Amino acid sequence: MEVEVSRRKFLRGSVKMTILGGVAASTTETILASHSNSEHKPTASNIPSSITTKTGTGKAKEVPTLCEICVNKCAAIARIEDGIVTKLDPNPLFPKSKNMLCARGNAGIQQLYDPDRLKYPLIRVGKRGEGKFKRVTWEEAYDAILNGTKDFKGLKQILDEEKNNRSTVGYCAGEGMAEHTFQNWMKCKFGSLNFVNHGTICLTTTIGGYTLTIGSYGAVDFENAKYVIMGGANRAEAIVTPDTMDIFKRTKGRGAKLVCIDPRFTHTAAKADLWIPIKVGTDLAFVLALTYVALTEELYNKDFVAKYVNGFEEYKNHIISNKYTPEWAEKITGVKADTIRKVARDFMKAAPQAIYYQGRRSTFSQQDFQLRRAQAIFSALGGGIDTKGGIIFGKKLPLGKHGTNIPVYSTTKDRVDYDKAAIVGSTGTWLGFRDAVLEGKPYPVRSMFIYKHNPMLNLPNIDKTRKMFEKFDLVVAIDIMPGDTVMMSDVVLPECTYLEREDPVKSYGGTMPSIALRQKVIDPIYPETKPVYNIIKGLAEKISKPMWEIAKKYDPVIQKDIEGMTPEQEEEYYRKNGHDLTDWLKAESQEEVNEHMVVSKWGKEAWEILREKGVFYPNMDKYFKKINDNEYQYYPEDKKFYTTKNGKFPTPSGKIEFVLPNMATKGLDPMPTWRDELYVKVPKGKFKFITGRHAQFTQNNTQNNPVLLDIIPENYLWINSRVAKEKGIKFGDLVEVSSEVGKVRIKAYPTEKIGPENLFFVHGFGAHSEALTLAYNNGAADNEIIKDVIEPYFGAAAMHTTIVDVRKV
Ligand code: SF4
Repeated sequence: MEVEVSRRKFLRGSVKMTILGGVAASTTETILASHSNSEHKPTASNIPSSITTKTGTGKAKEVPTLCEICVNKCAAIARIEDGIVTKLDPNPLFPKSKNMLCARGNAGIQQLYDPDRLKYPLIRVGKRGEGKFKRVTWEEAYDAILNGTKDFKGLKQILDEEKNNRSTVGYCAGEGMAEHTFQNWMKCKFGSLNFVNHGTICLTTTIGGYTLTIGSYGAVDFENAKYVIMGGANRAEAIVTPDTMDIFKRTKGRGAKLVCIDPRFTHTAAKADLWIPIKVGTDLAFVLALTYVALTEELYNKDFVAKYVNGFEEYKNHIISNKYTPEWAEKITGVKADTIRKVARDFMKAAPQAIYYQGRRSTFSQQDFQLRRAQAIFSALGGGIDTKGGIIFGKKLPLGKHGTNIPVYSTTKDRVDYDKAAIVGSTGTWLGFRDAVLEGKPYPVRSMFIYKHNPMLNLPNIDKTRKMFEKFDLVVAIDIMPGDTVMMSDVVLPECTYLEREDPVKSYGGTMPSIALRQKVIDPIYPETKPVYNIIKGLAEKISKPMWEIAKKYDPVIQKDIEGMTPEQEEEYYRKNGHDLTDWLKAESQEEVNEHMVVSKWGKEAWEILREKGVFYPNMDKYFKKINDNEYQYYPEDKKFYTTKNGKFPTPSGKIEFVLPNMATKGLDPMPTWRDELYVKVPKGKFKFITGRHAQFTQNNTQNNPVLLDIIPENYLWINSRVAKEKGIKFGDLVEVSSEVGKVRIKAYPTEKIGPENLFFVHGFGAHSEALTLAYNNGAADNEIIKDVIEPYFGAAAMHTTIVDVRKV
């Protein structure tokens, strides 16, 4: 679902907004685009019945669904015996996951049957953070949100005191299919602009860098690329998905060359053709020097540049006049100048089937946005954008549309983090938002609603996050597990797991586009848990009229509009102008909404296929074929969408932007430029801390999973073995790692796979919630020691800029 709300206050009047995706609208407001689709529509009967599992012996029911243990959403088939989910298998029909379910996906059943799960609504009775709650009914929980209790204030009092500034209620969400239901209701119906999500503690700078340069983050065609540079993206170890396999099955003389740039010798480095260790935070200098070689040796694709690039000459002069030579870069990065020359030449020789991989997850340094721009530009110099074997845009299948009526509150104020970075979009800057809450400026944010997100463990400088939570008057958490953030809440609303609910239907773009459905596999095993759709619906019913009374009391525009109206006329105004907060959620369930979304575009039969097989795309019955036990054909080669072939890029000018003049007006660099002052040097005897992910451990979603803890029981500190020896640290010794903002204790793993200037451990451990039996105090939390450093473009957290010390305890 895509809804953009302007940073301006909501437009006055009844606004019809088009929403793509899974939020219901009242039938009278539904905009149904009639679809005249001439493409072949498959029937359920002529799709191969290949979705059968081979495990288990009893009489089993099988239901296709989508995994939710990480962001990839691989297709699974749940086997259900006597009402128990006994097995999850991959669903071979989904082109995105290609018959693969990783270790975490297989272990998803453990989340369903985790005895620590939240089972019913809770209200805080002790001090915030103390972990004391009492069990209540849903009605009592909604009542506490509206009216408060003796221990905390409710929405009515807060909104009254803030004179209907809806933005005094902040809200945040982690990535997920139902995130948008929560987010859009809070934004478009409740009316707050203060939303923050995981973007600025993840890949906002990467998405921003590529989008502003080539028009989109795009995808990568690892299956056909001949040369791939991966900088800091540990695909063999941090996220093992089908496209991860697409590249690793072709390295080491099997069709593609992979260059891994990483200060650690990771699994990706081990499987690459060339590993280049680099000083942490210097990748930008490396890419600028590659560009220098490509330009000065005229290795770039002149035709492509002439046709599709804006600002080439200016950028060329910039690179050459700044003397970004390989020798210059060697001094900064520690990478030999000859190696830089060789990589640049080999890349351009393989181009356009050559990719500088965009990257995932984190923002490394304060120069990260310019690093991603430089990567995109270097790829474009080879011509590998919107083409087979390069970065591709692909195609997305449309879904039905809904409209809704957005209420207008002239009393709603702009975001609090508005000026914390150059480009603050509708998802904000988490660290900037937190600072603004702590400062209480430009106005107080007094409440926080949280869905499927764990800021207590996910944001750098945990101590600061704790202080932020202590400032709120009301904290409401919707979650499955009683994690650290739930412990800081006043009202806890339990969601059912992904195997117990239906989420908004989703269209997946790429070379082989499809639509896939996460549907309910079994009824919730704890009857008081609910899908977020129903949770929000119940909340909307409870607070709609009281919120309207507050709006009337303080909003001068509404007051003027309704002056002299009879109660009946006022009621009509309330409904017509979107103040009825339930009107977006009139459908009985998410299932009903999904059916509408699919049937209105693709017809009833497509919907039946989606329900039965979990996946739909035109011609699936003709195209889908099993090649061997490990491989399937989803689309014939000539039907794949490798290129949009329209000669235009989705940028404002239609060309690839080497120069962004608007940046200069904000006092920022219009072209990627190395800034010494933004580079953090490592003082003698100290270390720069780096963090990362593990493929069997997805952040906080897996921290209490017994099967995965069996594979990786706790995290260990990587420390260079010579440094460890000097400090008398041996394998398994307990050490203390400390920074300016905190310290942790963790066991040591001395190794030659990391250099003497760095220390490393994986994210996802170190929870402090006693309600998590297995995760409680297990290992160390990286954000306990990572400093909150904001990068200036998008306000993202620069994760690899913290200097630390280590000692044996
Ligand atoms: S956890 Fe594994 S199976 Fe599940 S979505 Fe992620 S990659 Fe796919």
